[in-house]
Amino acid sequence: MIKISPTAKLPVELCKGAYEQRFDKAQKLTDEFFNKISKKFTTKDIAPDVFTKTVEEILPSKINFQLEKNSKISCEGAVVHCLNPQNTGELNSYKIFLPLNKYDNKISIYDTNVFMHEIFHFFCEIFNPKHLARSVKLAESPFRRYDDFFYNEYLYNKKCTDLEALKNEHLPDVLRVMPQDEKILFLQNARYKLKEELYAWANGYKYGIENQKIHKDLISEEIEPSDGKEFKLGEKLGIVNSILKEILNDARKNK
Ligand SMILES: [Zn+2]
Repeated sequence: MIKISPTAKLPVELCKGAYEQRFDKAQKLTDEFFNKISKKFTTKDIAPDVFTKTVEEILPSKINFQLEKNSKISCEGAVVHCLNPQNTGELNSYKIFLPLNKYDNKISIYDTNVFMHEIFHFFCEIFNPKHLARSVKLAESPFRRYDDFFYNEYLYNKKCTDLEALKNEHLPDVLRVMPQDEKILFLQNARYKLKEELYAWANGYKYGIENQKIHKDLISEEIEPSDGKEFKLGEKLGIVNSILKEILNDARKNK
Protein backbone atom coordinates (compact mmCIF):
# COMPACT_ATOMS: atom_id res chain seq x y z
CA MET A 1 0.00 0.00 0.00
CA ILE A 2 1.45 3.35 -1.06
CA LYS A 3 1.43 6.10 1.58
CA ILE A 4 0.99 9.81 0.87
CA SER A 5 3.71 11.92 2.46
CA PRO A 6 2.89 15.28 4.17
CA THR A 7 4.90 16.94 1.37
CA ALA A 8 2.21 15.85 -1.13
CA LYS A 9 -0.91 16.95 0.77
CA LEU A 10 -2.08 19.80 2.95
CA PRO A 11 -2.53 19.31 6.72
CA VAL A 12 -5.74 17.48 7.71
CA GLU A 13 -7.36 20.56 9.26
CA LEU A 14 -7.25 22.32 5.87
CA CYS A 15 -8.76 19.37 3.98
CA LYS A 16 -11.87 18.95 6.12
CA GLY A 17 -15.40 18.95 4.73
CA ALA A 18 -17.32 17.34 1.90
CA TYR A 19 -15.57 17.07 -1.43
CA GLU A 20 -17.55 20.00 -2.83
CA GLN A 21 -16.09 22.21 -0.09
CA ARG A 22 -12.60 21.04 -0.93
CA PHE A 23 -13.23 21.94 -4.58
CA ASP A 24 -14.21 25.42 -3.35
CA LYS A 25 -10.96 25.72 -1.43
CA ALA A 26 -8.93 24.71 -4.49
CA GLN A 27 -10.88 27.30 -6.47
CA LYS A 28 -10.14 30.07 -3.94
CA LEU A 29 -6.44 29.30 -4.07
CA THR A 30 -6.59 29.31 -7.89
CA ASP A 31 -8.22 32.78 -7.86
CA GLU A 32 -5.59 34.02 -5.44
CA PHE A 33 -2.84 32.55 -7.60
CA PHE A 34 -4.15 34.30 -10.71
CA ASN A 35 -4.27 37.68 -8.98
CA LYS A 36 -0.63 37.31 -8.02
CA ILE A 37 0.78 35.76 -11.17
CA SER A 38 -1.00 38.20 -13.47
CA LYS A 39 0.87 41.07 -11.81
CA LYS A 40 4.21 39.37 -12.56
CA PHE A 41 3.76 39.81 -16.31
CA THR A 42 5.72 42.95 -17.17
CA THR A 43 6.49 41.52 -20.61
CA LYS A 44 4.49 38.84 -22.36
CA ASP A 45 6.63 36.07 -20.85
CA ILE A 46 7.69 35.18 -17.32
CA ALA A 47 10.55 32.97 -16.10
CA PRO A 48 9.58 29.53 -14.73
CA ASP A 49 11.11 30.35 -11.32
CA VAL A 50 8.78 33.36 -11.01
CA PHE A 51 5.93 30.93 -11.53
CA THR A 52 7.32 28.46 -8.97
CA LYS A 53 7.91 31.20 -6.37
CA THR A 54 4.38 32.53 -6.81
CA VAL A 55 2.96 29.04 -6.19
CA GLU A 56 5.15 28.67 -3.08
CA GLU A 57 4.04 32.06 -1.77
CA ILE A 58 0.40 31.05 -1.61
CA LEU A 59 0.71 27.40 -0.54
CA PRO A 60 -0.53 27.04 3.06
CA SER A 61 2.15 24.40 3.81
CA LYS A 62 5.30 23.05 2.19
CA ILE A 63 4.50 20.87 -0.84
CA ASN A 64 7.18 19.33 -3.06
CA PHE A 65 6.70 20.09 -6.72
CA GLN A 66 8.77 20.71 -9.81
CA LEU A 67 8.03 22.47 -13.06
CA GLU A 68 8.85 20.59 -16.28
CA LYS A 69 8.65 21.39 -19.98
CA ASN A 70 5.78 19.61 -21.70
CA SER A 71 8.02 18.15 -24.41
CA LYS A 72 8.17 14.96 -22.32
CA ILE A 73 4.41 14.40 -22.48
CA SER A 74 1.85 14.03 -25.27
CA CYS A 75 -0.42 16.92 -24.25
CA GLU A 76 -0.05 20.62 -23.50
CA GLY A 77 0.09 20.30 -19.75
CA ALA A 78 -0.30 17.80 -16.92
CA VAL A 79 0.11 17.32 -13.19
CA VAL A 80 1.49 13.96 -12.08
CA HIS A 81 2.20 12.67 -8.61
CA CYS A 82 5.56 11.01 -8.06
CA LEU A 83 6.96 8.34 -5.78
CA ASN A 84 9.90 9.05 -3.53
CA PRO A 85 12.93 7.52 -5.34
CA GLN A 86 14.42 6.61 -1.94
CA ASN A 87 11.19 4.96 -0.75
CA THR A 88 8.85 3.76 -3.47
CA GLY A 89 6.14 3.01 -0.92
CA GLU A 90 5.66 6.74 -0.53
CA LEU A 91 4.13 9.33 -2.82
CA ASN A 92 5.93 12.55 -1.94
CA SER A 93 5.93 15.09 -4.78
CA TYR A 94 4.40 16.41 -8.00
CA LYS A 95 5.56 17.36 -11.45
CA ILE A 96 3.71 20.18 -13.20
CA PHE A 97 4.23 19.98 -16.96
CA LEU A 98 3.70 23.24 -18.85
CA PRO A 99 4.39 24.65 -22.30
CA LEU A 100 7.60 26.70 -22.24
CA ASN A 101 8.80 28.88 -25.10
CA LYS A 102 10.93 27.07 -27.63
CA TYR A 103 14.07 29.23 -27.28
CA ASP A 104 14.08 31.01 -23.93
CA ASN A 105 12.06 28.40 -21.97
CA LYS A 106 9.83 31.07 -20.48
CA ILE A 107 6.09 30.89 -19.85
CA SER A 108 4.06 32.87 -22.38
CA ILE A 109 0.99 34.94 -21.55
CA TYR A 110 -0.69 33.08 -24.43
CA ASP A 111 -0.43 29.89 -22.38
CA THR A 112 -2.28 31.37 -19.40
CA ASN A 113 -5.20 29.02 -20.15
CA VAL A 114 -2.87 26.00 -19.84
CA PHE A 115 -1.07 27.04 -16.67
CA MET A 116 -4.29 28.07 -14.94
CA HIS A 117 -5.87 24.74 -15.94
CA GLU A 118 -2.91 22.80 -14.51
CA ILE A 119 -2.57 24.88 -11.37
CA PHE A 120 -6.21 24.11 -10.57
CA HIS A 121 -5.42 20.38 -10.89
CA PHE A 122 -2.42 20.82 -8.62
CA PHE A 123 -4.40 22.64 -5.89
CA CYS A 124 -7.20 20.12 -6.22
CA GLU A 125 -4.80 17.21 -5.61
CA ILE A 126 -3.27 18.69 -2.47
CA PHE A 127 -6.68 19.59 -0.98
CA ASN A 128 -8.10 16.13 -1.67
CA PRO A 129 -5.85 13.43 -0.19
CA LYS A 130 -8.92 11.15 -0.07
CA HIS A 131 -9.18 11.22 -3.83
CA LEU A 132 -5.44 10.72 -4.12
CA ALA A 133 -5.68 7.71 -1.80
CA ARG A 134 -8.57 6.32 -3.88
CA SER A 135 -6.65 6.66 -7.12
CA VAL A 136 -3.63 4.98 -5.51
CA LYS A 137 -5.91 2.16 -4.30
CA LEU A 138 -7.34 1.81 -7.79
CA ALA A 139 -3.85 1.75 -9.30
CA GLU A 140 -3.09 -1.27 -7.11
CA SER A 141 -6.40 -3.06 -7.79
CA PRO A 142 -6.76 -6.09 -10.11
CA PHE A 143 -9.13 -3.95 -12.21
CA ARG A 144 -6.59 -1.14 -12.61
CA ARG A 145 -6.24 -1.65 -16.35
CA TYR A 146 -9.84 -0.57 -16.89
CA ASP A 147 -9.43 2.69 -15.06
CA ASP A 148 -6.94 4.59 -17.23
CA PHE A 149 -8.12 2.87 -20.39
CA PHE A 150 -11.77 3.75 -19.89
CA TYR A 151 -11.04 7.28 -18.80
CA ASN A 152 -8.79 8.02 -21.78
CA GLU A 153 -10.84 6.13 -24.36
CA TYR A 154 -14.32 7.39 -23.47
CA LEU A 155 -14.57 9.94 -20.70
CA TYR A 156 -11.73 12.35 -21.41
CA ASN A 157 -11.80 11.92 -25.16
CA LYS A 158 -13.21 14.30 -27.76
CA LYS A 159 -13.89 11.41 -30.12
CA CYS A 160 -16.35 9.83 -27.70
CA THR A 161 -19.48 11.84 -28.48
CA ASP A 162 -22.10 9.06 -28.55
CA LEU A 163 -23.51 9.53 -25.07
CA GLU A 164 -26.23 6.89 -25.53
CA ALA A 165 -23.60 4.27 -26.35
CA LEU A 166 -21.52 5.40 -23.38
CA LYS A 167 -24.47 5.01 -21.04
CA ASN A 168 -26.00 1.83 -22.42
CA GLU A 169 -23.00 -0.08 -23.80
CA HIS A 170 -19.49 1.03 -22.88
CA LEU A 171 -20.00 1.80 -19.21
CA PRO A 172 -22.15 -1.29 -18.45
CA ASP A 173 -19.60 -3.43 -20.36
CA VAL A 174 -16.66 -2.31 -18.25
CA LEU A 175 -18.63 -2.52 -14.97
CA ARG A 176 -19.93 -6.03 -15.69
CA VAL A 177 -16.59 -7.65 -14.83
CA MET A 178 -16.19 -5.90 -11.46
CA PRO A 179 -17.47 -6.84 -8.02
CA GLN A 180 -19.69 -4.20 -6.43
CA ASP A 181 -17.09 -2.45 -4.27
CA GLU A 182 -14.76 -2.12 -7.28
CA LYS A 183 -17.59 -0.65 -9.36
CA ILE A 184 -18.15 1.99 -6.70
CA LEU A 185 -14.44 2.79 -6.47
CA PHE A 186 -14.19 3.02 -10.27
CA LEU A 187 -17.24 5.28 -10.65
CA GLN A 188 -16.37 7.54 -7.72
CA ASN A 189 -12.93 8.01 -9.17
CA ALA A 190 -14.35 8.75 -12.64
CA ARG A 191 -16.87 11.21 -11.19
CA TYR A 192 -14.20 13.03 -9.30
CA LYS A 193 -11.84 13.23 -12.27
CA LEU A 194 -14.55 14.55 -14.59
CA LYS A 195 -15.59 17.18 -12.08
CA GLU A 196 -12.00 18.26 -11.57
CA GLU A 197 -11.50 18.47 -15.34
CA LEU A 198 -14.64 20.62 -15.76
CA TYR A 199 -13.35 23.10 -13.18
CA ALA A 200 -9.86 23.07 -14.73
CA TRP A 201 -11.22 23.91 -18.21
CA ALA A 202 -13.44 26.66 -16.81
CA ASN A 203 -10.47 28.24 -15.03
CA GLY A 204 -8.21 27.98 -18.07
CA TYR A 205 -10.79 29.60 -20.32
CA LYS A 206 -11.77 32.41 -17.95
CA TYR A 207 -8.27 33.38 -16.88
CA GLY A 208 -6.80 32.83 -20.35
CA ILE A 209 -9.06 35.63 -21.58
CA GLU A 210 -8.67 37.79 -18.48
CA ASN A 211 -4.87 37.84 -18.49
CA GLN A 212 -4.81 39.02 -22.11
CA LYS A 213 -7.37 41.73 -21.33
CA ILE A 214 -5.35 42.97 -18.34
CA HIS A 215 -2.16 43.08 -20.41
CA LYS A 216 -3.50 44.29 -23.77
CA ASP A 217 -0.47 46.56 -24.01
CA LEU A 218 1.96 43.61 -23.89
CA ILE A 219 0.45 41.56 -26.72
CA SER A 220 -0.22 42.12 -30.40
CA GLU A 221 -3.59 40.36 -30.52
CA GLU A 222 -6.00 38.59 -28.21
CA ILE A 223 -6.53 34.87 -28.79
CA GLU A 224 -9.57 33.04 -27.49
CA PRO A 225 -8.54 29.88 -25.63
CA SER A 226 -10.36 26.58 -26.04
CA ASP A 227 -13.18 25.96 -23.56
CA GLY A 228 -13.05 22.13 -23.76
CA LYS A 229 -16.80 21.89 -24.51
CA GLU A 230 -16.13 19.30 -27.22
CA PHE A 231 -15.20 16.73 -24.54
CA LYS A 232 -18.83 16.82 -23.26
CA LEU A 233 -17.50 16.47 -19.72
CA GLY A 234 -20.65 17.75 -18.02
CA GLU A 235 -22.88 15.31 -19.93
CA LYS A 236 -20.53 12.41 -19.16
CA LEU A 237 -20.42 13.41 -15.49
CA GLY A 238 -24.24 13.22 -15.46
CA ILE A 239 -24.14 9.66 -16.85
CA VAL A 240 -21.48 8.50 -14.37
CA ASN A 241 -23.45 10.07 -11.52
CA SER A 242 -26.72 8.39 -12.43
CA ILE A 243 -25.12 4.92 -12.73
CA LEU A 244 -23.24 5.44 -9.46
CA LYS A 245 -26.50 6.37 -7.75
CA GLU A 246 -28.17 3.16 -8.98
CA ILE A 247 -25.28 1.03 -7.78
CA LEU A 248 -25.15 2.72 -4.36
CA ASN A 249 -28.93 2.19 -4.00
CA ASP A 250 -28.52 -1.52 -4.84
CA ALA A 251 -25.68 -1.79 -2.36
CA ARG A 252 -27.85 -0.34 0.40
CA LYS A 253 -30.76 -2.65 -0.38
CA ASN A 254 -28.57 -5.73 -0.30
CA LYS A 255 -27.05 -4.92 3.09
ZN1 LIG B 1 -6.97 18.74 -17.16
